[in-house]
Amino acid sequence: MVGTKAIFCESRFGRPVIQLGRFRFNRRSDSHGPRGSWVCGKTAITGCRATLITLEDQIIKFKNEHNH
Ligand SMILES: [Zn+2]
Repeated sequence: MVGTKAIFCESRFGRPVIQLGRFRFNRRSDSHGPRGSWVCGKTAITGCRATLITLEDQIIKFKNEHNH
């Protein structure tokens, strides 16, 4: 999965999201510039710890540990 081109979308609230299979990741508001830090969209509900890091449009780090 690392090295994959990320598919950037926009949530219905106009926030950046990445769709990856059946999972959706939200960009952390404290990540700026070409390097993006993303957390699973279900983190707030389930406490899911899955995260990914992007550089430009590439996924450079991926922790695919969902608890749901
Ligand atoms: Zn998750």
